[in-house]
Amino acid sequence: MKTIECLIIGSGPAGYTAAIYASRADLKPVLIQGLQPGGQLTTTNDVENYPGYPSGVTGPIMMEDFQKQAERFGTEMIFGTVTKVELNQKQGGEHIITIDDKEKMKTKTVIIATGASAKYLGLESEKKFMGLGVSACAVCDGFFFKNKDVVVVGGGDSAAEEATYLAKLCNKVYLLVRKDSMRASQIMQKRVFETKNLEVLFNHETIEVLGDEKVNAIKVLDIKNNKEKEISANGFFLAIGHSPNTQIFKNQLEMDEVGYLITKADSSKTNLPGVFACGDAQDSIYRQAITAAGSGCMAALDAERYLSELI
Ligand code: NDP
Repeated sequence: MKTIECLIIGSGPAGYTAAIYASRADLKPVLIQGLQPGGQLTTTNDVENYPGYPSGVTGPIMMEDFQKQAERFGTEMIFGTVTKVELNQKQGGEHIITIDDKEKMKTKTVIIATGASAKYLGLESEKKFMGLGVSACAVCDGFFFKNKDVVVVGGGDSAAEEATYLAKLCNKVYLLVRKDSMRASQIMQKRVFETKNLEVLFNHETIEVLGDEKVNAIKVLDIKNNKEKEISANGFFLAIGHSPNTQIFKNQLEMDEVGYLITKADSSKTNLPGVFACGDAQDSIYRQAITAAGSGCMAALDAERYLSELI
């Protein structure tokens, strides 16, 4: 097993940016892409707020560009999932990473950019109809609900984006917001309220997803009036936030109660030498492509400095 200088886990904006910087610094990084190369942005339709794209760009195209840029400087991409990490506690120690339960790699630095995954409500009926009407990705699955009625849950920017996207395809979209206001930015809320076939149901919670072989209705509770009702719909889309993908680092790296990795102030350093974290795996506040990319750059610079101090 040969030892490499820098191994990057994750292929979202944070991982690819770390790869661009690490490869330009001649660290010859290897990047493990995970099951969804490009990460969460590959499920986003229009990215309008990433500087450098004045007319906007689709998430998948932007991530292809990120990958090409990292490859141009020599990053080696591996399509696989990290299944085990054995992190060394000593300065200059080698970390051992297992990929797909088979291949092992030794590395002097690890950059963690594993991102976050969509949350679900945790209902039994939601699990039962997963892929049969229940989805957490409108861009991936919206097509299957063309001209049908669907329900979206959530009140943030994701929910606003998913609901307006679905409204272009579907007959009618109901947006269930559990409070009496939305958390989404003003511009996104404006789009929601201006969309004719999109109805926002404030103070509504999901009780159950109903159906036979596939979803055909959603049982909801109107919290203010304490009344239950059924909404006829074939699609049920979750847009209620994300959880960090950090389980494999449990008991080795410091994390908060939700699982976000803790980094030292003004850096990407974790509690272990040579292990750096960036992107949504360590950011519960900003969670933007641009902030993830910025923190990926920080992680690569921190890794490079760490390696040069070892010499
Ligand atoms: P957020 O955490 O911002 O919002 C989650 C929403 O889901 C909240 O409205 C929350 O309700 C609701 N929610 C959480 N749990 C439940 C539940 N059990 N039942 C019902 N509703 C629930 O997550 P987002 O994914 O929307 O956004 C994450 C970040 O990504 C944000 O910073 C956002 O700005 C950004 N983003 C930006 C986009 C863009 O600019 N194009 C697009 C998408 C996301 P409550 O408010 O009551 O807590």
